[in-house]
Amino acid sequence: MKENAPKETWHKTACVLCSSNCGLEVKLDGNEITRVRGNKTHVGSKGYTCEKALRVNFYQNFQGRITTPLKRLPDGSHIEVDWDTAIAEVAEGFKEVNEKYGDGKILYYGGGGQGNHLGVGYSMATRNALNITRRSNALAQEKTGEAWVEGRMFGAHTHGNFHEAEVAVFLGKNPWHSHGFDEARRVLKEISADSKRSMVVIDPRRTETADLADFWLPIKPGTDAFLIAAMILIIIEENLTAKSWLSENTVGLDETVKAFANIPIGDFASRCGVPEEQIRNVARRLAAAESVAFYEDLGIEMAPHSTLVSYLQRVVWVLLGNYGNQGGMSVHSYAAPLFSYKASGSEPTDPVTGSLVISDFFACNEIADGILSDHPERNRALLIESTNPVHSLAESEKFRQAMRAVDFSVVVDVALTETAREATYFLPAATQYEKVETTFFSASFPENWICVRPPILAPPEGVLTEPEIHTRIIRELGLATEEDFLPLRELAKKGLDEFSKGFMEFSVNNPELAALGAVTLYETLGEVLPVNMRGAAVLWFSAQQTALRYPTQVKAAGYEGDGPSLGNSLFEAMISNPDGVLFTRHEQDQAWDLLETIDSKIHIAIPEMLEEVKRLADSPSTYTSDEFPFVLAAGERRSFTANTIMRNPEWRKRDQEGTLRLSLGDAEQLGIDNGSRVRITTPGGSAVAVAEINETMMQGHISLPNGHGLSYSPAGGEPEVFGVPTNELTSTDWCDPIAKTPWHKHVPAQLEVVEP
Ligand code: SF4
Repeated sequence: MKENAPKETWHKTACVLCSSNCGLEVKLDGNEITRVRGNKTHVGSKGYTCEKALRVNFYQNFQGRITTPLKRLPDGSHIEVDWDTAIAEVAEGFKEVNEKYGDGKILYYGGGGQGNHLGVGYSMATRNALNITRRSNALAQEKTGEAWVEGRMFGAHTHGNFHEAEVAVFLGKNPWHSHGFDEARRVLKEISADSKRSMVVIDPRRTETADLADFWLPIKPGTDAFLIAAMILIIIEENLTAKSWLSENTVGLDETVKAFANIPIGDFASRCGVPEEQIRNVARRLAAAESVAFYEDLGIEMAPHSTLVSYLQRVVWVLLGNYGNQGGMSVHSYAAPLFSYKASGSEPTDPVTGSLVISDFFACNEIADGILSDHPERNRALLIESTNPVHSLAESEKFRQAMRAVDFSVVVDVALTETAREATYFLPAATQYEKVETTFFSASFPENWICVRPPILAPPEGVLTEPEIHTRIIRELGLATEEDFLPLRELAKKGLDEFSKGFMEFSVNNPELAALGAVTLYETLGEVLPVNMRGAAVLWFSAQQTALRYPTQVKAAGYEGDGPSLGNSLFEAMISNPDGVLFTRHEQDQAWDLLETIDSKIHIAIPEMLEEVKRLADSPSTYTSDEFPFVLAAGERRSFTANTIMRNPEWRKRDQEGTLRLSLGDAEQLGIDNGSRVRITTPGGSAVAVAEINETMMQGHISLPNGHGLSYSPAGGEPEVFGVPTNELTSTDWCDPIAKTPWHKHVPAQLEVVEP
């Protein structure tokens, strides 16, 4: 390089392919992301990435991007419409549904993705304006069982400190590929290399994480409840519990202990295929540790007894006194909550299906059935944002039919997805690199962080951000005019202190405008933010709430002021630091202050769960049959799988077709070779995939990767489907009895060779 050559610019942003949202630095050439490296000064990831981040250009740039709203005609074709027409007809369409059926028959589905979180704040304005009270998203097909348990036990969400835990336990989780905490692979390797620390992996597959583990328990698929229940009784019988800690910090201990009294340990061990002695050894190792961190994931949350296993694993670490200790489990702070626990124990029910509405989420497994019923309270319209339920929810065809059965539907998304194609309106949105964005996924304790990333590219002409779309809908609904916002906008020009003083008064005097929350902030404070950061205006409210919830810990994280001025300091730091910032710093013993149970104790007994424990011995431990002798894990995380935002299959360096993995023993028995084409048939459907004999698979267990089966036109022609869309094989009625979360990781299946 010549001495005075200008330095090439690295732009700070984040990876959007999993919930870790690692900080990245990227180089651009026009609209192309040409180079990617980890951002070493990022507050959470500190330079770490996995291989997926290097391919994010495939998310940003893909064939067939639509840059104008589309309207679906009755024959299924689409016509382009201008934004003014689209916004007017969207507002009118939802209003008509309310007028015809009464308020409350519109479902909002969305609010997330992997770090695409600001839009949900703006959608709340539209939801409030249209009295949209029903909501759901993918969390309600994965995490609501866990949320139901956590609400009852802690009143809040807990997370483990894997960076410091003496023993890390992974249950139905392979963090090598699914991550879930900062610097996952680095941490796994550190634990593995440290003779004083241990790793326990409970998984039928010998995953990359299992290879690093001190204890790998190769459990038969779907039998986790039996293993953990046996481990609990071992802990009790061998006197391994933290007795005085438990009597001081928990309620419901006696009834909990009693419920496990008759667990047949030997029988349960043989049902799950793990020798009893191995379970005992793990129980003893956990009990001997200063700290234990547990992580459950979809391997158990989408398999039989899912909610029960979420409960049982928490009973293990509570019995061992692993809450609030350094390196153990803890509730964490949040800048915006992902779950609401206020109705824990008295959740309302879906008026159509009767299922629990956990954490304000309607069970997504039942949305289509509800719509397709003749119940008068059924949903009549859908507002879907940044998510693709036709592809990602069980029984895709049923959701497709539901989309056609509602009176009106709108999809806001980057691409014309499988879901968007079915909607009355498709509104094209900016990518996560074309707008300011953040993630609320960070769950670290004692320090927690947030990273607000400015856009690194401009959206193409004709594409809008979600804040702008919702603001236009609000204006179209006639709920706010330019004049309404003038006083607050004037205050914003005078600075944050004046603005925050005036905002309270404005909210009291204008409750209808206050209900529009994010849009009001966008129209006032947003006007004085740098133009590319306008969408971050909603974070002012998050910063204020955070400062109100954790004043001491926000100050400990380095911010000054009291009351609103503390929130303002935090907000300014958040929006001006693309490396991210710590927003709270707790003392270790303040973990107890974060419990949100009524008495700040851990409620170890959940009566419904204890009843299930008593019935467990009579429950089946296998769900296969002569007709469906295999267990299919429909949606395995692999090196090149992500959620469905990566539409171009070429983003995968390997496994572009998404092979069906099976064991050598099964392959030999069925005459299957690597590359054979095999038909997978389940009670829900059938599909053909390419076989891959994989030594990590247990006999009888087969897997297909997640995120495949999207339609895409690599050369811009007619779309083709690449790989198996796993939800063509799943069924909505195969699910957890409490949370209704689908058992995608445990689908009984049959295999036959189509082409050897
Ligand atoms: S996929 Fe996840 S772990 Fe990998 S770089 Fe992206 S955010 Fe980080």
